[in-house]
Amino acid sequence: MILDCAIIGGGPAGLTAGLYTTRGGLENVVMFEKGMPGGQITQSSEIENYPGVTGEISGMDLMMPWPEQCQKFGLKHEMVEVKRISKDGDIFKIHKEDGSISQAHSVIVCTGSSPRRAGFAGEDELLGKGVSTCATCDGFFYKGKEVAVIGGGDTALEEALYLAKICSKVYLIHRRDSFRAAPNTVKRVENSENIELILNTTPEEVYGDNMGVVGIKVKNSDGEIRDIKAPGVFVFVGNDVNNQTLIQEDGSFLCDVSKQGDIIVDISMKTSVEGLFAAGDMRIAAPKQVVSAAGDGAVAALQAISYVDEKLN
Ligand code: FAD
Ligand code: NAP
Repeated sequence: MILDCAIIGGGPAGLTAGLYTTRGGLENVVMFEKGMPGGQITQSSEIENYPGVTGEISGMDLMMPWPEQCQKFGLKHEMVEVKRISKDGDIFKIHKEDGSISQAHSVIVCTGSSPRRAGFAGEDELLGKGVSTCATCDGFFYKGKEVAVIGGGDTALEEALYLAKICSKVYLIHRRDSFRAAPNTVKRVENSENIELILNTTPEEVYGDNMGVVGIKVKNSDGEIRDIKAPGVFVFVGNDVNNQTLIQEDGSFLCDVSKQGDIIVDISMKTSVEGLFAAGDMRIAAPKQVVSAAGDGAVAALQAISYVDEKLN
């Protein structure tokens, strides 16, 4: 069977694409998601800028009803990692981790982005043993203890605020003296009693023993080293686009990408390849918000419906 549409990734963009394609009349639509649907926002402790959703809500709670809403209209979810998307004539091939291949008339790729490594000594070795990229997942392990947070964007500051509610103290380490995060978030951090700002400072080395992380050595712009004893080190230094599924056997990309690897689309979420759409955080100039990822998913889905209708009728 050839699918009408294959959706790769089940975050806000993929789930919205799934809702609109199925509700809009496409018959065989499968969302290929390697884990639980919901995407990276499920790692967020609090989201307060999704329209119409007031009060404190976690990313997990926000996303909980989305898959059920899509399934009601016929979206199928295959829990598998997609290795590669290729095109043979006018049919797309979805190469999966288990070696099997699905075929589709159209593809909406929404694989989002992944946390970047800061690149200091010990970071990789101690990842999962005290070094973390998810405060909601790991914050509780450090209840009543001191932790360090690296970064100066929205994620670092919001997660520092979350950790400050659980931990006795949060050291927020940022390489500059001003933050990228929203001004309101910066104000909240500055007013927090148990967040210490360590600015113009970069991590040198995280070190530990057989129990996990013991502390982190940081260096300021005067070259002074400070040793911070903290069993938890949370790294929030941005994200890289997950574009690996578009890399072909010869190393080229299936469609045009920017120098940074973002997928180039027009305002209809069309890529340079007919029938292939990209939506959400992975597309060029993405605002990297749940609401915009969902909007992209809807736009891409409406375009995929027109493309398939024209192709098959
Ligand atoms: P993602 O959410 O990244 O989803 C991509 C999905 O694709 C994932 O589920 C992944 O498992 C899957 N996938 C990847 N590769 C493959 C593959 N090869 N095969 C199968 N599946 C694959 N935004 C806001 O609007 N407000 C906030 O308050 C906010 N807070 C945030 C806090 C944190 C900690 C983080 C990390 C992000 C936050 N964001 C926030 C940003 C928001 O989460 C993203 O903009 C949004 O999730 C992007 O959605 P997406 O669908 O494009 O991608
Ligand atoms: P980001 O905005 O790219 O910020 C990354 C931070 O890490 C920057 O402060 C950067 O420093 C620092 N950094 C980068 N590499 C580093 C390194 N090697 N060592 C030390 N520090 C390093 O990433 P983000 O905070 O994850 O946010 C990603 C996107 O999601 C943004 O568009 C953001 O607005 C959005 N987001 C929105 C919300 C919200 O709306 N509430 C919440 C979370 C995320 P410099 O500042 O010096 O570059």
